[in-house]
Amino acid sequence: LARLRHFQMSLPDLERALFRVPDPNSIREWSNYYTSGVHLAGTNLSQAQWTADKFTEYGIKTEIVPYYTYLNYPKDHGLRLLGINETVKYEASLEEDPLPEDPTSMRADRVPTFHGYSANGNVTGQYVYVNYGRQKDFDILEQHGVSVTGRIVIARYGGLFRGLIVKGAQERGAVGVLMYTDPGDDGNVTIYNHYKSYPDGPARNPSSVQRGSVQFLSVTPGDPTTPGWPSTQFAERTDPYNSIPSIPSLPVSYRDMIPILSELNGMGFNPNDIGEDWRGGLREFDYSSGPSTNSLNMFNLQEYKTTPIWNTIGRIDGIIKDEVVIIGNHRDAWVVGGAGDPNSGSAVLIELARAFGELKKQGWKPLRSIILASWDGEEYGLLGSTEWGEDLAKFLGAKAMAYLNVDVAVSGPHLDVSASPLLTTIFKDVAKRVAHPSGGYVYDHWFTDSNAHVGSLGSGSDYTVFLDHLGIPSIDFGFGGDSNDAVYHYHSNYDSSAWMNRYGDPSWEFHATMVKIWGLLVLQLSEVEVIQFDVEEYARSLVSYFRRIQEKIGEIATDNAEPTSTSSWMDSGVYSCPDKDGSLIRECTYIDREAAADVDLPDFELGWWYIASSLHNCTNALENLMKTAAKFEEKSSYVRAEYLTDYPWFKSYKKMRLYVQIQELNSRYMKFERKFLYAQGLDDREWFKHIVFAPGIWTGYAGATFPGLDEALDARDIRNTKKWLDIITNAVNDASALIDID
Ligand code: GLU
Ligand code: CA
Ligand code: ZN
Ligand code: ZN
Repeated sequence: LARLRHFQMSLPDLERALFRVPDPNSIREWSNYYTSGVHLAGTNLSQAQWTADKFTEYGIKTEIVPYYTYLNYPKDHGLRLLGINETVKYEASLEEDPLPEDPTSMRADRVPTFHGYSANGNVTGQYVYVNYGRQKDFDILEQHGVSVTGRIVIARYGGLFRGLIVKGAQERGAVGVLMYTDPGDDGNVTIYNHYKSYPDGPARNPSSVQRGSVQFLSVTPGDPTTPGWPSTQFAERTDPYNSIPSIPSLPVSYRDMIPILSELNGMGFNPNDIGEDWRGGLREFDYSSGPSTNSLNMFNLQEYKTTPIWNTIGRIDGIIKDEVVIIGNHRDAWVVGGAGDPNSGSAVLIELARAFGELKKQGWKPLRSIILASWDGEEYGLLGSTEWGEDLAKFLGAKAMAYLNVDVAVSGPHLDVSASPLLTTIFKDVAKRVAHPSGGYVYDHWFTDSNAHVGSLGSGSDYTVFLDHLGIPSIDFGFGGDSNDAVYHYHSNYDSSAWMNRYGDPSWEFHATMVKIWGLLVLQLSEVEVIQFDVEEYARSLVSYFRRIQEKIGEIATDNAEPTSTSSWMDSGVYSCPDKDGSLIRECTYIDREAAADVDLPDFELGWWYIASSLHNCTNALENLMKTAAKFEEKSSYVRAEYLTDYPWFKSYKKMRLYVQIQELNSRYMKFERKFLYAQGLDDREWFKHIVFAPGIWTGYAGATFPGLDEALDARDIRNTKKWLDIITNAVNDASALIDID
C-alpha cells in the first residue's frame, strides 16, 4: 500500500527545517543572475539551462521542454505628429532614458519599447483620446458623435488588459493604437504631490514605458497558431488573427504623449462634458477627446517567426505518484532587469528549490510528487505554461492536484492573493504561520490591509491553463504596492535591481517571506494525507457569485419583468417569476410555459418567467451543494483527526480501513473542481472550459464569475441565459453527487 509511510519527518519538523533556509543574500544572488541578461521569450536558453542546473544541484530531476511558438521581435518603430503640409511638428522618442543610477537601463542590449503580437503597419490619421479604451469609453464617444473609424486611438493604461483595448479599437474601425501610462493612475506618489520621479524619488519616471502583449487573451491564451493543442515542432498551425490584432499598436511614455494630447485641447468632448473619470493626472492638457485636426503617423515593424521557447521542469517524486502538486513562475521578461516581473518570483523559486534540496538531505521524501516549473513565453501570452498544459492535458487532468503560481513575488509590501475557493482556507492557515518582515504574522498584515481578501482568478499569468482549461485548483499570490508606495515601473527598464534595492525590497526580506509562504503551502498540500481543500468554502463562494447574478437579473427584470398583456401568445396560469430584486421567486400569472418555449419570439419578449424554473433549479442545486459540502468537510475533519491520533492499540486492519477512507475522500477532492468544466467551453471562446471562472471578456485581468451566464445576461439573451443556468445546475448537481458520501 503506497500510502503506508515508512519513517518520515513530521510536518512540524519539515516546517522548521524549511523556515531555516531562506536567506536574503542568496535570493539577491539569484536575482542578480537573472537580471543580468536579456530574457525575451525564445532568447533565454542559457537561463533555462542555469535554472535546470540549479534544480539538479538541489537533487531535483530536471528537463528542458521546448515548444515552437509564433511570436515577434521588435525591428523598428516611429511616431510623428504632423502639421500643415505634412511637416513634422513633433517626433516621439519611443525610448526610455538611460539612467546612470540604474545600470540595466544603460545597457546597449536593452529591449526597445514595443508590444508583443502587435501588427506591422504604417498608418497616418487623425487621432482620438479614448480614456482607458473600455467598451463603455468607446460607447460614450459614439454617443457624443465621435467616431474612431479610420483614426488612431490613444488610450491610457489601467482599465483592462491592453490587448483588449486593441481589440475594441479594431472592431470599431480604428487603424492604430497608442497606449501610455498616465501619472494620474499612480496613486498618491506623483510629482503633483511633490514626490521626485525615479531615480531621484519614488514617483514615475516620465520616460518610462509599459511594454506588454496585445494578444486577445480572453479569447485564447497560448500560441495563437495552436489554440487548444500543443506547439510541438511539427504541429499543425492555424491563422492567428482570431487571437491577435491586425492593426498596429505602440506603447508610449507620458512625456512623449504630452505634446500629442495637448493638440486636442478644446476639441471634441472633455471631462467637463463626459465625466470626471475621463480625466487623468497631467496638467498640460484638458483630456479632450478630439478628433484632432492634425494627423499622427505611426509605424511598427516587427519580425514574426515560429521559434523555440524553453520550459524548465523539475520533479521530486513522492510516495504517491498520482497526486501531483505543481508550482510555477515564468522566466521570460520584457526587459533586461525585470527585478520584479518575473525575477522576484524566479529568485524565490530557486531559493525554494534550494530549501527542498536541504529537506531532501535531511531524509525527506514527499508524500505526493512535486513539479517545479520555470516557464518561458509568459509575457507574450502565457505560451510556455499553456502549451505544456495542452500537451500534458491528459496527465494533468488525472493527476494534478493543485497549481501554485507566483509571478511578481515582490513589488511592494502588501499581499495580493487570488485563488480557487478550494485553496482559500489552507492559504490562510499558511499565512498565519509565516512571520512578516515587519513583525507579527503575514496574515495579520494581510488582514489589516484587505481583510485577508482572496480574489477570484481572471487571467494574465500562468495559472490560466490549469484552472480555466483543465479545472485544476490554482492560486496566484505575491507582495505588491498600493497607492502610497513607490511607483512600480511595470514592464519598463526601471523594473530593475536598482529600483528593487532602493524601493521594492531593500532588505530582500519580503522575498525570503515568499519562499516560506510558497514552501509551506506546498508542504501542507503534499504532506498531509487527507487533502486539505475546502469544498464548503467553494460552495459558499458559488452562492455568493450566484447572488450577484440574481442581482443583475433583478436590475434587468425591473425594466422587463413582465410581458405586456397585449402579447398575443399570453395565456393565463400561475408561474414562478424572479422578483424585481432578483433573489426572490414570486408567483405571477402568465401563459403556459412549455408551449411558449416553442413560440419563436424575439428574446426578452419571452419574459422572465421563461428562466424562472431554471433559476429555481439552480438555486436549489446550490443549496443542496451547501449541505453536502458541509457533511463532506465534517467527515473529512473526522478522518483527519482519527489519522493524526496514533492510538497505540490501533490494529493494522483499523489503520487499513482509515486509509481506504482517506483514499475515498482524496479521490473526490481531486475531482471536485473538474466537475465545473464544460466540454464545449464558453460561447465564442471554447478554449475556456471552466463555467465558474474566466477572464472577463472585456477586462482580461479581472475575472468574471459564472462567465457564460453573466455574458448571456449582458447580451440580454434570455434563451442563452436559460442554457447557462441549466449547465450550471447540472455541474453543481454532479459536484454534489461526487461528495455525497456517508
Ligand atoms: N503577464 C502578461 C501581461 O500582463 C501576460 C500576457 C498575456 O496573458 O497575454 O502582459
Ligand atoms: Ca497551443
Ligand atoms: Zn510576470
Ligand atoms: Zn509581465
